[in-house]
Amino acid sequence: MTTLLETRNLTAFYGDFQALFGIDLTLNAGEALAIIGANGAGKSTFLRALTGLRSTKGQQVTFDGQSIAGLPADRIHKLGLAMVPEGRRLFPSLSVEENLLIGASGGRNGPWNLKAIYDLFPDLVAKRANPGHALSGGQQQMVAIGRALMSNPKLLLCDEISLGLAPKIIKNIYQALPQIRQQGTAILVVEQDVSQAMAVSDHIYCFMEGRVTLTAPPKDLSRKQIADAYFGMKNGEAA
Ligand code: ATP
Repeated sequence: MTTLLETRNLTAFYGDFQALFGIDLTLNAGEALAIIGANGAGKSTFLRALTGLRSTKGQQVTFDGQSIAGLPADRIHKLGLAMVPEGRRLFPSLSVEENLLIGASGGRNGPWNLKAIYDLFPDLVAKRANPGHALSGGQQQMVAIGRALMSNPKLLLCDEISLGLAPKIIKNIYQALPQIRQQGTAILVVEQDVSQAMAVSDHIYCFMEGRVTLTAPPKDLSRKQIADAYFGMKNGEAA
């Protein structure tokens, strides 16, 4: 298997505050990986470091065979790493289609274009001229995923795509992920919804207080192991 993304001993700081303490993570080409963990575990910070929104200068981060440590966000994006940000961050006054087209700028060539996005999310077809602010939360999330795909990434990073959505809508959105993988796009999801994360991923990483506390394929994990790693419980007591 080819390694697509690798971090070794990755750290991150906000001023004096250390948010990540030596993260070792490996993701293979075409794989789906999920990072789970409670609020403040460092999941979003890790994604921000990968995409260049937090500098990784001098650290060990490789993507598709080259070091991306310290590169600016637009260069990393061009190499094939795209993020669906927490909270979707659409341009509210622009239409669905305009939001999608913005995603294509600065990206790569590949299978994802407007038609492919509308095939993936048929609900958006009738809304294509509607402004972002006039969409439901689920439709906004579809546009946010579509916008990231329009750059034809090798790796799609999804930051809490289930947040604030009804279970039925979450199911609908998660159903799209296997189709995205079929196009050869690897996926890294950050999730607090452990069941969703387990269902879609080949590999789980659990973060707690800026450290990896567990890593394994979901099928090898018991609920107790996950709870221990997620909440830092040992023998029923907080560590
Ligand atoms: P959430 O699910 O709440 O987004 P998370 O696992 O994504 O949690 P991060 O957002 O990465 O966690 O936060 C990790 C730690 O870094 C937390 O203690 C948080 O308070 C802190 N932190 C995050 N962003 C900043 C910031 N801009 N300035 C200072 N501290 C921050």
